[in-house]
Amino acid sequence: MAGAGAGGISEAVLDAVDRRLLDLLQRDFPLNARPFAAIGESLGLPEEEVLARLRRLAGPEKGRLIRQIGAIFDTTALGYKSTLVAMRVPQSETDRAAAAINRHPGVSHNYQRDHAWNLWFTLAVPPGEDLDTSVQALVDQAGGYPYRLFPALRVFKIGVHLDMEGTGDIPPAESPQEGRATPSAVPSTRDRAFIRELQEDIEIVPQPFAGVAERLGVSQEEVLAWLHEAKAAGWLRRFAAVLGQRQAGYVANGMVAWRVPADSIEKLAAVAASLPQVSHCYQRPTYPDWSYSLFTLIHAKSKEDCQAIAGKIAQATGVSDYVILFSTKGYKKERLKYFVSTQEVMTSRSQDLYADAQRYMPGGVNSPVRAFSAVGGEPLFIAKGEGPYIYDVDGRRYIDYVLSWGPLILGHAHPQVVSALKEAAERGISYGAPTALETELAKRVVEAVPSIEMVRFVNSGTEATMSALRLARAYTGRSKIIKFEGCYHGHADFLLVRAGSGMTTLGLPDSAGVPEGIAQDTLVAPYNDLQAVDRLFSENRAQIAAVIVEPVAGNMGVIPPEPGFLEGLRELTRTEGALLVFDEVITGFRVAYGGAQALYGVTPDLTCLGKVVGGGLPVGAYGGRREIMAMVAPLGPVYQAGTLSGNPLAMTAGIETLKVLAEAGAYERLEERSARLADSLHAAAEAARVSIFQTRVGSMFCTFFSAERVVDYASAKRSDTNRYALFFRAMLASGVYLAPSQFEAGFLSLAHGEQDIERTIEAAEEAFAGVGG
Ligand code: PLP
Repeated sequence: MAGAGAGGISEAVLDAVDRRLLDLLQRDFPLNARPFAAIGESLGLPEEEVLARLRRLAGPEKGRLIRQIGAIFDTTALGYKSTLVAMRVPQSETDRAAAAINRHPGVSHNYQRDHAWNLWFTLAVPPGEDLDTSVQALVDQAGGYPYRLFPALRVFKIGVHLDMEGTGDIPPAESPQEGRATPSAVPSTRDRAFIRELQEDIEIVPQPFAGVAERLGVSQEEVLAWLHEAKAAGWLRRFAAVLGQRQAGYVANGMVAWRVPADSIEKLAAVAASLPQVSHCYQRPTYPDWSYSLFTLIHAKSKEDCQAIAGKIAQATGVSDYVILFSTKGYKKERLKYFVSTQEVMTSRSQDLYADAQRYMPGGVNSPVRAFSAVGGEPLFIAKGEGPYIYDVDGRRYIDYVLSWGPLILGHAHPQVVSALKEAAERGISYGAPTALETELAKRVVEAVPSIEMVRFVNSGTEATMSALRLARAYTGRSKIIKFEGCYHGHADFLLVRAGSGMTTLGLPDSAGVPEGIAQDTLVAPYNDLQAVDRLFSENRAQIAAVIVEPVAGNMGVIPPEPGFLEGLRELTRTEGALLVFDEVITGFRVAYGGAQALYGVTPDLTCLGKVVGGGLPVGAYGGRREIMAMVAPLGPVYQAGTLSGNPLAMTAGIETLKVLAEAGAYERLEERSARLADSLHAAAEAARVSIFQTRVGSMFCTFFSAERVVDYASAKRSDTNRYALFFRAMLASGVYLAPSQFEAGFLSLAHGEQDIERTIEAAEEAFAGVGG
């Protein structure tokens, strides 16, 4: 800025050499091992003198005129999304609101200004976080006052250069225009580590990059090479000194907002940007109650000077409709720190919500594993889901491998499903009377699943298995059933016997409240153990109604059936006159369109479905041979009913999901991506010397922290759950949401793209390294 010499720092304090030094340093900083020697050379000064002068200029003696010497990164190029936000806060509340907002590390500037919109702050969120959700969370925390978003639509000028020598020789303003807005590359984990180190001020010592190199565990040459690469990538705007404006005498800061006709914006911007006192010039959106579209930030020595400069711009352009919002209180002004974990810095909104939830609901959740008790920490509260991602209420984005515990095979909020649901909802949510939709979904199920000739829809997997076994008992006239240790079939009393999933995770051997008499007809065999089943049959001749099995176990981690196991069960049940029931609540439409029975070519008598068949809405189903299903009421004597069973919304979500899954190539795509993910997880663990046993069938997978083959409940239970918890937390911190328990399945959707898998693998490499061998 011209004439800064007459500002806060007197002529006597800064000599001509200081001024030259300051001008030079604001421009560019030599990126080599001895930068201060290089600067000295260009000014004819010894290195020691440059260092001594700079230490004085950065120290209290000179009012800390140098605020920073370091890397100035480009927010947009790093993939950050940012916006200016204006809030209308009752005057007495501004301090409190500002304090709440300032807790967010992405808030770099926050000012009170003399206008009805009286709190103005900037918020930037890293790649993967959702800006709107973050703003909403901040606004809520600040008191929920009215707010407007003012993202930059066009940037005409950014950055301040204070002309210390008064020569008027100011380098052209930086204008990160279009091209720059698209990041050239996404910073990798390594890049992020460099950025975290290099955004801190460098030390004023002969070799300032030596310390950085040491902290990063690389050589100085690598640090310097990285800086050059970062510049080429557009991430690094410049490496330079930033001076304190107040210290340099620029104490008034006026944000001037102009009401400009659209065709005059560029002209006004050009005039404003040419003035050295204007540090920033942006076009921002307008609203019915805010019609000013061009924002200029003016730094001057007094309010009057600011007004005079604004007047000058008005005169030169003929635009006279403007407001000046002077800052009346500076709440925050600091450099944005990139790639620091938001979670580390602020108490999260999830935590607040969880505390609240626990007051009203047991454990704060409606299904136990959601509470994260197996992995430590507290559950995230989710604000929205989109494709392969979920966003928590603090705006953080995660690649989701839980997918609502399996149903969302198309990803979150699939447009075809959502739009069909909207239309269906408008026609009424439920009638409790038949609709054509039920027959349509039934038809699709019958066509897809080999064992099903007729089907009954219910509202959950629990209802499906409970009802299917009631039917099996009625059909055979027997009462005992065989289930497998570690298989979970929902929470019907008689099935809560050595069940996996939450039961395994929570270490409950069984559930309280289940009368012994009810459980005594449930016999249990180890998974994959045909001989044990054979024994149970011989010990209970003509008493066993059914064998129920998850054809791929998915509730003690993922355990595929050993070759011959399912075939053996088919054979045994047939000869013993019992029914074979496949619980395909997870595997149905998951491992193949026709479920595990299609994949393995083994046809059971009855099949239970859930999850995918409802496309994310509560649907379960059981079905099988016509003569068996004919026993279900109203056709037969087996009673089973449901107020909301087959409701039009649930049927619609199921139909649309199956339509997409029936398209050519869907399962091939899932298979290919799932294979890549599972193979890479295995390779990453091996590289980090972590013993794991990786399993996968189709798009369900599991990483057991175990050195042995996992084939049943006993071997699954020998996994190192502490290591899993460490892994889980590291993945979560990197934006990957895995099941919060070693004993749950991971799921992939059609929405998971190559890049998501890449990022997951990258995160896993780091996470395995942290888990230790
Ligand atoms: N069967 C299996 C194999 C399951 O995995 C589950 C739930 O995860 C159920 C049944 C119970 O389904 P729901 O939770 O819909 O009652």
